[in-house]
Amino acid sequence: MKLGSHVSVAGKGLLSAAKEAYSYGANTFMLYTGAPQNTVRKNIDTMHIKEGKEFMEEHGLGDIVVHAPYIINLASPKSQTFGLGVEFLRKEIVRTEAIGSDYIVLHPGSHVGSGEEVGLNRIAEGLNEVLSKEQSTFVALELMAGKGSELNYKFEHTAFILDKVKHNEKLVVCLDTCHVHDAGYDIINSFDEVMEEFDKVIGLDRLQVLHINGSLNPKGSKKDRHANIGADEENPKGKDHIGFKALHYIVHHDVAKNKPCILETPWLDKKTNLYKEEIEMLRQK
Ligand code: FE
Ligand code: FE
Ligand code: ZN
Repeated sequence: MKLGSHVSVAGKGLLSAAKEAYSYGANTFMLYTGAPQNTVRKNIDTMHIKEGKEFMEEHGLGDIVVHAPYIINLASPKSQTFGLGVEFLRKEIVRTEAIGSDYIVLHPGSHVGSGEEVGLNRIAEGLNEVLSKEQSTFVALELMAGKGSELNYKFEHTAFILDKVKHNEKLVVCLDTCHVHDAGYDIINSFDEVMEEFDKVIGLDRLQVLHINGSLNPKGSKKDRHANIGADEENPKGKDHIGFKALHYIVHHDVAKNKPCILETPWLDKKTNLYKEEIEMLRQK
């Protein structure tokens, strides 16, 4: 099982990220190449990549994932926003390759009023500008909760995008448990059926990254607020509506085998997270 969490690159870049992941008992991790909310990025040469890779090798860490910043919106009807997204994603793919990661997770985009079909076509157009047959990194389209005008909250959206992208051999899918639950899929009682549908609509070979999170809201709420794994009412961040049993079932499922499973669960305060405990809980048979 490949289990880890989102970690920070503050300080010594990849080396700091790897050390943080190791402290949680993880064997994989996910990082942002800078702040998730902006496009300010340090030169890749300052990210301690060689030392980071050495540390990873020595400590059994691998199959790491990069997450693109949220501000990329390829579905935007505004040409400036769209253009910035395309340009930034191109650079981010280069950085992801330099870090030695095979996957960059992307929120496909929000149509902000232009409508779903227009937005989906725009995403495909953007990906067609970015993807090249030479790149070694896959772009992992994240399945979203459907908050606001967010797209890719249905498997059919992913299928639509795949169909319109020339180099779709460079596209895979990231399944976020909080998002698909919030989008209305019953992963609590019918995960096998949900995966059958995934296979029918997208193809299970595309599923390459998982985000393992609880949800603060009931199925179909389209809220996208992550909860700690199996958290009850006593948890200061609120109760998880998915529950430990379902999340444990998913990480031990065949579809997750050897795929990076990344926790993005809330921190209790600025200094405290539960990644170590949550990883340990999920790993148990
Ligand atoms: Fe995400
Ligand atoms: Fe996620
Ligand atoms: Zn989320």
